Amino acid sequence: MQHLSSYDPIIENLRKRGHRITAQRETILQIFKEEPHGNHLSVEELHSKLLEKGYRVSLATTYRTLKLLSVLGLLRELDFAEGHKHYELKQDTLPHQHIICTSCNMTLEFEDHFLETIGQEIASKHHFQVIDAQFKIFALCPRCKDK
Ligand SMILES: [Zn+2]
Ligand SMILES: [Zn+2]
Repeated sequence: MQHLSSYDPIIENLRKRGHRITAQRETILQIFKEEPHGNHLSVEELHSKLLEKGYRVSLATTYRTLKLLSVLGLLRELDFAEGHKHYELKQDTLPHQHIICTSCNMTLEFEDHFLETIGQEIASKHHFQVIDAQFKIFALCPRCKDK
């Protein structure tokens, strides 16, 4: 496994904010980086990947770490209304949003710059600092729509 280099912008960002980069957190971010584009991991999926890599970590700890990385703005916590949350790497370079099929849970990502900008504007008007702006379209995918 390739480790994140010390000048990795994500890691730098964490350090600047005074957070310790534990091997476990680094591994979690690495796992997300290795995921194919558009993949979203649940806590359970990430947990089993950590176990595969030899980390003896509880599900509760995994969940807390994912929460922390989301609050820090490194991951996005996504709720697709399937009863559990999914996570993905937050990429500042290519903001995207999701269309979710309410019938088969298929999710489609689409590029979005507009919502990021408008989110920033609305939040700063109210003196909030944006962590993430999410827009979800709940719909029927082409396959489910024709059933
Ligand atoms: Zn996504
Ligand atoms: Zn569908």
